[in-house]
Amino acid sequence: MPGFELINEEEKNAVNKLFDEGGVLFPHGFDALRKNYHVREFEELSSKYFNCKHSLAVSSGTAAIKIGLKALGVKPGDEVITQGFNFIATIEAILDCGAKPIIANVDETLNMNLDDCVKLINKKTKAILPVHMLGVPVNMHKVMEISNQYNINVLEDNCESVGAKYDEKFLGTIGHCGVFSFDFGKAITTGEGGMVLTNESTIDKYSREYHDHGHENNPNFPRGKDTRSIFGFNYRMTEMQAVVGKVQLGKLDYIIKSNNDRYNEFEKNFPKDLVKRKIPTQSKPLNDTFIFFVESSQKKEKYIEILNEEGFGTKNLPDAMEWHCSAFWDHALDEDQVQRTMKTKKLLEKAIAVPIWLKRSPREYFELSKKLFCS
Ligand SMILES: *Cc1c(COP(=O)(O)O)cnc(C)c1O
Repeated sequence: MPGFELINEEEKNAVNKLFDEGGVLFPHGFDALRKNYHVREFEELSSKYFNCKHSLAVSSGTAAIKIGLKALGVKPGDEVITQGFNFIATIEAILDCGAKPIIANVDETLNMNLDDCVKLINKKTKAILPVHMLGVPVNMHKVMEISNQYNINVLEDNCESVGAKYDEKFLGTIGHCGVFSFDFGKAITTGEGGMVLTNESTIDKYSREYHDHGHENNPNFPRGKDTRSIFGFNYRMTEMQAVVGKVQLGKLDYIIKSNNDRYNEFEKNFPKDLVKRKIPTQSKPLNDTFIFFVESSQKKEKYIEILNEEGFGTKNLPDAMEWHCSAFWDHALDEDQVQRTMKTKKLLEKAIAVPIWLKRSPREYFELSKKLFCS
């Protein structure tokens, strides 16, 4: 379920309290007017929850990807390998660094086909950017093996699977750098927002400076006399987003459990003659989406009709496929990248993504799957 379903008095009170305590909406300075630094607190809570050394809160998931790529040294002329089932944001972030996106196909896990990834590596490859799509991890063990073998850094786009784990580690904390999105459709939300996570202090230092015009926040100087060694941009999060983020992070355990309850009930009636999305072993998915494949387009339409009639709808597949599949992105990608990923498009065209909503009970998911598969 997306975190917006749980927004209630707690988020509202947190925003009101921010105004009661002085109403400073900026993460730095104004010391005399404030009691708390909520963006910094949100970052500390994130590092603690996700068991990661550094968390940097930023203005969006897309900004987080760009910052992460810059911190990994991606520059004009470099190539970055990402995948055909994705969101346009990763392509935009790569292009914004002046680099070239190289697109690997996905396999039946609907995440990066890692054999395909290896074939695309060459001396221009600066980073690998796997995307944990719709709650399910890519095989991070294999990704890190490739990373070590070819000496290429990994940025995990974990915008869509906040709270999922691979090998008992939270996604976004396994690669050299990882990013979250807190936009309104994601597992937890701050309206707009994102996080850059890393265990490497050099990556954190660069990211922190880059997202804040190069400010080093040198404790020996006031902000107006602050030292700098790089120029950056403004991708700061506001205090208002952070107070909401702190409340939402407190709800993540509940979100994960509620997803699992509903997902398991839905799965109970899933028939043997249909094919589910493959889940890598050693993974604990977010279970916010149940994806299965249907060969016959007539049957597929029938399922979608029932899902719409029952008020569940579908998620991205098929309704927003044009924003999630690189075969449609000839406005941003070279023709050879678009053509290669027709394979991904063919696979995605067979898929139905059932959203897991909190507002629908586990029992309703059981009844839905009975209606879909047992009649
Ligand atoms: C949502 C999303 C993003 C971008 O996040 P924003 O916070 O909306 O900028 C990036 N990648 C993927 C896979 C996403 O789903």
